[in-house]
Amino acid sequence: MFMSRRSIVIIGAGHAGVQAAASLREEGSDDSIVLISGEPDLPYQRPPLSKAFLKGAMDLAGLPLRAEQFYREKRIDLRRGVQATRIDLAARRVELGKDGAESFDHLILAAGARPRPFAIPGADLDGVLTLRNIADAAAIRERLGPGRRVVVIGAGFIGLEIAATALAVGGEVTVVEIARPLGRAVSPPTSDFFLDAHRVFGARFRLGVGVNAIEGAKGAAAAVILSDGERAPADLVIVGVGVLAEDSLARAAGLVCDNGVVVDAHLVASDPAVSAIGDCALFPQHSVGQMLRLESVQNATDQAKSVARRLTGKPAPYAALPWFWSDQGDLKLQIAGLSHGVDRWVLRGNPTDRAFAAFGFRAGALAAVETVNRGAEHMAARRIIGGGLPISAEEAADPAFDLRKLALSAKA
Ligand code: FAD
Repeated sequence: MFMSRRSIVIIGAGHAGVQAAASLREEGSDDSIVLISGEPDLPYQRPPLSKAFLKGAMDLAGLPLRAEQFYREKRIDLRRGVQATRIDLAARRVELGKDGAESFDHLILAAGARPRPFAIPGADLDGVLTLRNIADAAAIRERLGPGRRVVVIGAGFIGLEIAATALAVGGEVTVVEIARPLGRAVSPPTSDFFLDAHRVFGARFRLGVGVNAIEGAKGAAAAVILSDGERAPADLVIVGVGVLAEDSLARAAGLVCDNGVVVDAHLVASDPAVSAIGDCALFPQHSVGQMLRLESVQNATDQAKSVARRLTGKPAPYAALPWFWSDQGDLKLQIAGLSHGVDRWVLRGNPTDRAFAAFGFRAGALAAVETVNRGAEHMAARRIIGGGLPISAEEAADPAFDLRKLALSAKA
């Protein structure tokens, strides 16, 4: 099929934007590709920011997604430190502030997410930090160390990863969480397991309480005041209360948004000249029958590939199986599938061994598997769920049942 050379502009050069550009070339696109990155650094991986990089086990050189020459060789016009400031849908143009404007035939929104604002007194004090980018990670890394008192607000993935790292480098950690650790993301047994594990790492938990204020001394955070009146002394306060989709430009341009840029099953936004992918996209998740926004490398990468295939004449509804990982101390949590609507969890193995799996069933069908330090079972679960292979709760819980054999029966 002959296609004239188009202008494709991508806003955001995170996991989604970089993959979209790379996949367009892999799929044979000869289009002009402009990749706009609001950040000055060579586009980089975010997961190490709360793990190896934060611990000092990886330096800046380990972070880039691709070497600089990749962009040159693939004729991807990467614009670093350039902010898209306005989308003009009628004119098919993206304004770039002082850096001019770019016309597009197709626009890919891959703008990611930003930390959810945390509006309490003292949230603007020095030493109150969130973690989303390299600068944030460098600021946190600088302040961690032996004896440093760290209060982590929010026991989500990033909060707990930072807590484990802070302890590993000799800090003292208090985690404040209004509900349960990882409560929105994992099953009750896995949540309980991580609560116990972080206590063994040395974290102190204050569960079921909120935060009223952060108290300062000489302009810097000195203590966190909890809703039950406790004053938790702090040299560093990490706010890990989640993120919001970065959909502000899309909203201003009149695209339909609702906790992210609303897209259809092909990841097309309300204007057909626009796609949205990754953390900023709210898309129909066929397996759970609802609109979802996922925050994971897998989702960003697979959605990018899907859009690249569509733009090169191979359209298909987005249907990749969600999966995710999180490293907390020496524990690797991996999740395959989605736990929405799961009505039964069974365990395979014993959490006290620090290696087990939780299998979640929705109306009798396997929907999600959480594994801790069991990489092979995670890989098998991906094939079993992805291939819709039959497995009962009893089989899943039986350590003698051969998961690998079942997984291998899936069509490649
Ligand atoms: P992002 O990676 O956020 O990239 C979006 C980019 O767009 C940013 O660079 C932003 O500056 C830029 N941008 C936004 N607006 C504009 C604009 N107007 N103009 C120009 N540029 C703009 N996921 C996992 O699966 N496993 C993990 O272990 C894991 N760990 C994580 C640890 C941390 C500390 C963080 C922050 C995230 C982690 N994630 C993890 C989540 C994962 O990194 C995200 O889901 C992924 O980065 C999403 O990719 P994205 O491209 O959609 O967005």
